[in-house]
Amino acid sequence: MNFSPTEKAQQICEKARAFVRDELEGLETRVLREGWEAIQPALLAVRERARETGLFTPHMPSEYGGAGLTLLEQAQLSEVLGRNLLGHVAFNFAAPDVGNMELLHAFGTDFQKREYLEPLARGEIRSAFLMTEPEHAGSNPVWMSTTAREDGDQWVLNGHKWFATAADGADFVVVMAVTDPEEENRYARASMFVFPAATEGLELVRNISVMGHEGSGWMSHGELRLTDVKVGKEALLGPLAGGFKLAQTRLGPGRIHHATRWIGVCNRALEMMCEYSAKRMLAPGKELARQQTVQEWLAESRAEIEAARLMVLQAAWRIEQHGEFREDVSLIKFYVAGVLQRVLDRAIQVHGALGMTDDTPLAFWYSHERAARIYDGPDEVHKYVVARELLARHGLKIKR
Ligand SMILES: Cc1cc2nc3c(=O)[nH]c(=O)nc-3n(C[C@H](O)[C@H](O)[C@H](O)COP(=O)(O)OP(=O)(O)OC[C@H]3O[C@@H](n4cnc5c(N)ncnc54)[C@H](O)[C@@H]3O)c2cc1C
Repeated sequence: MNFSPTEKAQQICEKARAFVRDELEGLETRVLREGWEAIQPALLAVRERARETGLFTPHMPSEYGGAGLTLLEQAQLSEVLGRNLLGHVAFNFAAPDVGNMELLHAFGTDFQKREYLEPLARGEIRSAFLMTEPEHAGSNPVWMSTTAREDGDQWVLNGHKWFATAADGADFVVVMAVTDPEEENRYARASMFVFPAATEGLELVRNISVMGHEGSGWMSHGELRLTDVKVGKEALLGPLAGGFKLAQTRLGPGRIHHATRWIGVCNRALEMMCEYSAKRMLAPGKELARQQTVQEWLAESRAEIEAARLMVLQAAWRIEQHGEFREDVSLIKFYVAGVLQRVLDRAIQVHGALGMTDDTPLAFWYSHERAARIYDGPDEVHKYVVARELLARHGLKIKR
């Protein structure tokens, strides 16, 4: 394995670094001070300029207007963009749109690609992914009560979903629903559907307040109700009863994107820790960085970030080489999320009261990224997957 960036990857990262510095740093300061709504026009304008870099929608092939980067190149770019709060949104590389694009690309019909994938990849529309339900444990994705019933040439969906990121203002939704509750194989009970968010019967009940922020648009998490939502047969995404398989496929590369974004956040937080502690005086002539505790935080953060980075690059490389990802992706999901929490916590501690303010992005990340240990599967589920695979190699089969 050789993870030194190719010449192409170096050029990509240099271009992205310059864009983040010139176009996104000022906007990040504004979003922290003025809020998400206030910067929308500027953000849309920045997305137009991001297009000109040739890196917009980096994960999609050029036939869909994307940059067609390999997974390893995407990982390297994602790390650069992750340094800024707006990096991934600016490049049309943010959840849930990325995962939905990947799903539609792999499983969509010609109609679904034309109707949803193409405009989404061009950054003209937005989407949401509706799987989790308040009444059921999201960590057990085969257990849900949203149903899709066949009625003539239609499907009729009923159910209750929540935590659908960016559902507020989304143009279309991807919904997981049970199509055969009697099926013995619990992994074959549900199917996926894609249809316009404006379909009658689909209601955004509220934007859920998360850690004190209700959010809107891209930064929202919606609770939604489906009441006799009627959609045509063309709404079925992928094979009937294939919902679980599609959900797993969607989350594979998606977790690489999350993990590399988190490493970008960590790199920035570590740099901030170094800069601040080297300047902040505890007393005349005594910089904060002279304290051994701070030095230990810096060294530990550096070591953990390096380890996380290599682990993620290795997972991306393995997926590219062998197409398998379950164990590697579980490994990086819980490990990198933990590194992120620890590095952010240390960075806030180094900054003292300043770390609690919105004068730096640390507090925003600290509150928003606590969720990293929960979304796309909580730590405990991923640790179980890793342990299960390890034990299987030692002849012990364990089941949830
Ligand atoms: C910010 C954010 C964004 C999200 N975006 C989306 C989205 O766009 N679309 C969507 O459908 N969902 C989304 N989710 C939902 C997310 O996927 C679920 O929260 C997640 O799958 C966990 O499900 P749950 O919250 O129901 O927790 P539960 O399943 O109820 O689990 C509760 C806790 O129990 C523990 N636990 C669970 N299973 C085990 C186990 N096997 N062993 C030991 N302990 C266990 C864990 O600590 C877990 O945190 C989002 C969530 C957040 C926080």
